[in-house]
Amino acid sequence: MNNDATIVCWHCKKRVNLIFRRVFTPDKRHWEATCPWCGTFNYIYRPSWDQQPIFRKYRREYLAEVTGYSLEYLCRVARGANPLGQTFMDRCCHKLKEPQRKLFDPE
Ligand SMILES: [Zn+2]
Repeated sequence: MNNDATIVCWHCKKRVNLIFRRVFTPDKRHWEATCPWCGTFNYIYRPSWDQQPIFRKYRREYLAEVTGYSLEYLCRVARGANPLGQTFMDRCCHKLKEPQRKLFDPE
């Protein structure tokens, strides 16, 4: 798994590609990386690789094949652009024969 993302540093405004590491605080979790230009910490919350387990466990091409959803639709759900509906979850669980908590509950 590659935990990198291209972001604009909030401090020096340079566009940088950073490797993030997960950090936990009492109330939430997020990802942290240091800007190589100015040394400032940058935080991101729920990046694309930190979505539901289903998208880490299965390739989207495979999910499209098994569930019948289009690749485009699956990508929108994975990015959080489309909300995760109960119908969607039911269909995935049924087709993949996995319980909902294993596919959709945050680890
Ligand atoms: Zn910076």
